[in-house]
Amino acid sequence: MSRRKRKALRQKTTAGICDVCGREMPLCYRCQKCGYLICQECMAAGPRKFSCNTVTWVCPNCLNWETL
Ligand SMILES: [Zn+2]
Ligand SMILES: [Zn+2]
Repeated sequence: MSRRKRKALRQKTTAGICDVCGREMPLCYRCQKCGYLICQECMAAGPRKFSCNTVTWVCPNCLNWETL
């Protein structure tokens, strides 16, 4: 159902609908592998949940490690 935006593939951050909270956010981190989006708020709210630290986070969808 969800369509991915190809043009944003190279970007690590993009505007879009957060896959965690479902809200449209101006800045989301994107998984380069599956296109999963997580907004800054969710990232900040769940550092343990998403296993992120200052430089990396784990995509909860495909478990791919992404650098910030
Ligand atoms: Zn969110
Ligand atoms: Zn992913």
